[in-house]
Amino acid sequence: MDALPGLAGSTIVITGAAGGQGLALVRLLAAAGADVVATDRADAAPADLPQEATYRRLDVADASAWQSLAEQLSGRPVRGLVNNAGITHRARVGQVALSDWDRVIAVNLTGAMLGIQALTPLMGAGSSIVNVGSSAALNGHYPVAYTASKWGLRGLTHAAATELGPRGIRVNIVHPGYIETAMTASAPDAMRDAQRALTPLERFGQPDDVARTVAFLLSDAAGYITGAELPVDGGSTSSAGAKYLSDRIARG
Ligand code: NAD
Repeated sequence: MDALPGLAGSTIVITGAAGGQGLALVRLLAAAGADVVATDRADAAPADLPQEATYRRLDVADASAWQSLAEQLSGRPVRGLVNNAGITHRARVGQVALSDWDRVIAVNLTGAMLGIQALTPLMGAGSSIVNVGSSAALNGHYPVAYTASKWGLRGLTHAAATELGPRGIRVNIVHPGYIETAMTASAPDAMRDAQRALTPLERFGQPDDVARTVAFLLSDAAGYITGAELPVDGGSTSSAGAKYLSDRIARG
């Protein structure tokens, strides 16, 4: 049985694909025979990009870069778009500078909207868009610009799913919890410890945990799923702090 039906030979664009979860997804989809267009903000492809994938420079916050990508791809049906590029900025509401707020919103939220605008004209029935949100989109995580951008991405996901459904284009969002990538490598130790204490599966996530979920949502196996939000977080948002309470009571 084909674990990822519909993906072999189809064109899938991934943003933020030079490392972390994006690169894990490139590897998984390339191995499944997809025609992967891996994009990121650097000029050069990462050294470990699978040779079956193509690399293009794309700053997601740049509308003209999206238009050029759409022109380069025109005539080639696009089966999937994964809005994975993201940045964090760990300032609280009392401290965040307007320039940092704007930068985070531009990449994490506006970038996804520009991608959907640019590439949906190339997408037909059976296509799938997956936005990469965050467990911060389901709670009040302290880095305010990041949290607000990811909550906004939920709204974009639902609006796009409503609008694009009649064309047979599905739009979903995944919410990674604490995944071990370059982004979390810069997190304070206290955040790491607290996150582990709040996660029922009692481990951090790996890029492949998220990549496998995104690949499923891209594939025809998820053909009747649109407008859905799927946490990939070891149960942390579902538990909503109840694990801390439970462990605390068990300790007496
Ligand atoms: P990462 O830092 O390894 O990867 C992010 C990628 O986005 C990088 O390759 C970076 O170059 C790229 N990028 C940044 N700005 C860009 C821009 N303007 N244009 C194009 N590319 C740009 O981190 P990751 O953990 O793999 O993050 C992937 C996604 O997962 C992000 O959207 C992030 O917010 C989300 N996420 C991560 C975690 C986690 O714990 N790591 C948790 C929740 C959500």
